[in-house]
Parts: sequence; structure tokens; C-alpha cells
Amino acid sequence: MQHFSIAIHGGAGTLTRGMMTAEKESAYLKGLQEALNAGYSLLAEGASATEAVVAAVASLEDCPLFNAGKGSVFTADGTHEMDAAIMEGTGRNAGAVAMVTGIKNPIRLAQEVMLHSNHVLLAGEGAMAFAKQRNFETLPPSYFFNQFRFDQWQEIKGSDRIQLDHTQSDHKFGTVGAVACDQNGAIAAATSTGGMTNKKFGRIGDSPLIGSGTYANNATCAVSCTGSGEYFIRGAVAYDVACFVEHLGVDLQSACNEVIQKRLLDLGGDGGLIAINREGMVSFSFNTEGMYRGYRKSDGTFYTAIYRD
Ligand code: ASP
Repeated sequence: MQHFSIAIHGGAGTLTRGMMTAEKESAYLKGLQEALNAGYSLLAEGASATEAVVAAVASLEDCPLFNAGKGSVFTADGTHEMDAAIMEGTGRNAGAVAMVTGIKNPIRLAQEVMLHSNHVLLAGEGAMAFAKQRNFETLPPSYFFNQFRFDQWQEIKGSDRIQLDHTQSDHKFGTVGAVACDQNGAIAAATSTGGMTNKKFGRIGDSPLIGSGTYANNATCAVSCTGSGEYFIRGAVAYDVACFVEHLGVDLQSACNEVIQKRLLDLGGDGGLIAINREGMVSFSFNTEGMYRGYRKSDGTFYTAIYRD
């Protein structure tokens, strides 16, 4: 049987020991472990990498600690606008949504776009009309209310500042993602986010943009990113990693390091990514102090971490 594995992230940023209580730390690690188990148990049953990344990301979306789904940050208007994308390495199918509101699991809506529309990316009102047509429930704002997130927004409300969840004073970090390799050697990537606090003008980040925050191709790798979205868009970061593997033949970890530690930094961007290839090799790279991350593999290894080692 081919090896299978799954890796996840829950955001990268100014994460240092000392700024977190033992209680908070174990709550984050528990959130990561639950998400890994949700994806891994599907892979063990023979499910596809696509199903596994959706299950893992949906689990993180349901956890209020992360900036996605239930834990999404506030926009300048005091709403929650969420972005999500999924891509499978087989056939390079993809689906994405941007600026959706009231959807419990935006990643499932992105999957629905991939499976039941002729499009890749649906945004705003159109995406909501599609959700309605596909019988997705719309939850009230109270489901997404979180006092921490509200306080974060109050700090900068009315200003022109938009704030990356990763660098805020209460150190609540966010965007979530998963990459997986299934028993058939197929790979997939999924990313979901509430974006940046106080965002306006219909701002959309890198997460739902194929090639920027999310990318998968069985021939190279599957990638999910987190960080300052504008830089990840300009750097076409997820695709850039795949390009290094495809055109220069470098190993996955070197490709990730080249893109995150050099090319993204040269642009001025901060953040990180997770990547996997069809051999089930997992790579992490981040140029911040930490990144919520973890993997579980069929060789029995199970790893979760927050800080730079
Ligand atoms: N990349 C996300 C965005 O710019 C934010 C994040 O990773 O937390 O929307």
C-alpha cells in the first residue's frame, strides 16, 4: 500500500513561547490534533486526499481559535467575509469562494463550486446565490461572534488600518489549511480564512486564489499558505513552489525554503506554508516566529507544533 499522510496549518505569525499560557497552548494543539485526526481517519479508510483536506479544514473552521469559519475576524463593517479554496492534484480541478457570509464551512462551498459549477471562483452575492441554490444553510452573525475578535476590531475600527490576524496584540492567529496524499498517491490542498481585521472595499486575500494561497498538481506538490495575502498574491507563492519542483527538480523542502525564506522576504512578505508531494513527504516553511502546524503519516508519526524549534 502507498504511504498516505496529511499536514495542516492554523496560521503563522509572531508566536513565541512566553506569550501563551499552558492552557491556551494545549487548546491550540488539541484543535490541530482533532483536525489531523478528522482527515487522517478518512485517508485510512481509503478516502481521497480531497475528502481528507475538506474534513481537516472544516474541523479547523469549527474551532473558534482559528481565523476561519466560526473564528473569522471582523471586517470594517462589523461583518465576517470569508474566503476558501480547494484544489486537487489529479486533473488540477479547483473551486473557490470569496467574500461569503454566514456559511458555516466555506471550504465545503468551495468544494461545491469545484464539483457543481463550470467555474473556479465565485465571489460575494453570486457566491451566496450559488450557496442558496445548493441548499447551504446561512447562519446568523451571532454564530461567528467572538469577543476577542470584536475587541481586535474595536482597536482599529474607523482607521484605514487593516490588520493581519497574525500580528495582533492578543496574539490570536488564524487562516487554516490542509494538504494530503491518499492511498492512491493523489494529493490535494485546501485553505480557508476570515482574511484581515478591518478589511474593506471587497478585499480578497491570497487564500481563494489558485496559485497564490492554494495549489495542487500530482506531478509536483500540493501547497496551502498563510500570511500577508497581498504579498502571497504578488509572489504567486503556492505556484512558485510547484515551479521550483517542476522546472528545477529541487526537493520539496528546498523549494519551500527558497520561496518563503528568500523570494517572499525579498518582496517584504511574511508568513508560511505547508506542502506535500505524492510520496507523502511533508514540508513546512515559515519566515515568522511560529506557525500552528502538524502532520500525521501512515508510518505512525504524529506531530504538532507552534513555535520555531
Ligand atoms: N493570507 C490571509 C489573507 O491575506 C491571512 C492569513 O493567512 O491569516 O487573507
